[in-house]
Amino acid sequence: MKAPTRHLSFRPGQLPTSATELRSEVRALLERERLAGTWDPAEHRSWGSNNPELSRALGAAGLIGMTWPREFGGRERSQLERYVVTEELLAAGAPAGFHWIADRQSGPLFLRYGTREQKEFYLPRIARGEIQFCIGMSEPDSGSDLASIRTSATRDGDHWLINGTKIWTSNAHRAHYAIALCRTEERSDNRHAGMSQFVIDLKHTDGISIRPIFNLAGSHDFNEVVFDNARVPADAIVGEPGSGWDQVTSELSYERSGPERFLTNFHVLRGLVDALSRSASDEAQRQVGRLVSHLWTLRQASISVATTLEQGGLPNVESALVKDLGTHFQQELPEVARRLASAEGLHHGALLTVIENAIMVAPAYTIQGGTTEILRGIIARGLRLR
Ligand SMILES: Cc1cc2nc3c(=O)[nH]c(=O)nc-3n(C[C@H](O)[C@H](O)[C@H](O)COP(=O)(O)OP(=O)(O)OC[C@H]3O[C@@H](n4cnc5c(N)ncnc54)[C@H](O)[C@@H]3O)c2cc1C
Repeated sequence: MKAPTRHLSFRPGQLPTSATELRSEVRALLERERLAGTWDPAEHRSWGSNNPELSRALGAAGLIGMTWPREFGGRERSQLERYVVTEELLAAGAPAGFHWIADRQSGPLFLRYGTREQKEFYLPRIARGEIQFCIGMSEPDSGSDLASIRTSATRDGDHWLINGTKIWTSNAHRAHYAIALCRTEERSDNRHAGMSQFVIDLKHTDGISIRPIFNLAGSHDFNEVVFDNARVPADAIVGEPGSGWDQVTSELSYERSGPERFLTNFHVLRGLVDALSRSASDEAQRQVGRLVSHLWTLRQASISVATTLEQGGLPNVESALVKDLGTHFQQELPEVARRLASAEGLHHGALLTVIENAIMVAPAYTIQGGTTEILRGIIARGLRLR
């Protein structure tokens, strides 16, 4: 008999009372750093761009790894407080890519599964904004079907030998470390067994070639990374051998439901509203109103997921839904802006450039962090609709 349909659960979440103070703190820091010339708001590259100086300033202010224990460089603040900081960085388009992955995924991975030595070695440096991480999951023949990865790690005395190829590895050419998912046992009937995660020092390990891949907009953000007998120490394994699959999937709720899934091109909406502020047709007002109400609803859904995560829940289906709806929003936004700019005669060069760039990067939203088809599969299965 088919199991009964499960319903989505988006219980209203509330940001903490400290949110207002934190917002002012982040805004003041960004303004100080802007005046000091650390970053330029006109670049609008947000978490896709790297600015080690800005990350160090955020680290010094206690805004990286802020939920982690103090003994590892954290500030023991709540996930919802971290949410507020993330939201402010995105709304400002601050170039926070240097620490983004480490703060969001690698640090929490060490905290949950790492040894005490790993926590002491990596976490304080991440929290100070000193080291950058990248994620080595995808391979040339394994993207959506991540369980089919072939990169192997074989034990060799006090070391592991890594062999294989990772692809689309964002920031591998800049990052100090990669967290790579590797096969530590032969494939068996259980497709999810026999994988492990490793922390690999990209700057000091022989046998690693990092080759650039240029995207549609002409920038070099991701890479192909080839491991040819790359020798890493025995203690480079993160978590239990063979538990890589469970560890990786537990990262995904954090990766998918955050405000970066609908605020990455917020500057397009702001630019559009500014440009229309003197005069806007009824149709333009209707279109902008629709976008803003979608954004507001997405934000409520995302805050609800963040609240569930804070309370120890694992809302995988709801996270997948936020990511899917966020993708739709972020792709629709520059298209609507393009149509309105033309219909309303908005000939502002800066706005048109912003829209043009946003249209060029928009296809990536469908793919990164799980493709639309895969997310819809997760949602359908989670709701027991298939
Ligand atoms: C900007 C960007 C940054 C990225 N950064 C990283 C990174 O730092 N590290 C990393 O490891 N990876 C990264 N990726 C890779 C990304 O995670 C993969 O591209 C993604 O998982 C899809 O895998 P694939 O490219 O092999 O496509 P495929 O899995 O081959 O999918 C191709 C198409 O087939 C569809 N499809 C596949 N399987 C099914 C199915 N079962 N049912 C229905 N449809 C299906 C997909 O939805 C997609 O439309 C990045 C990707 C992008 C775009």
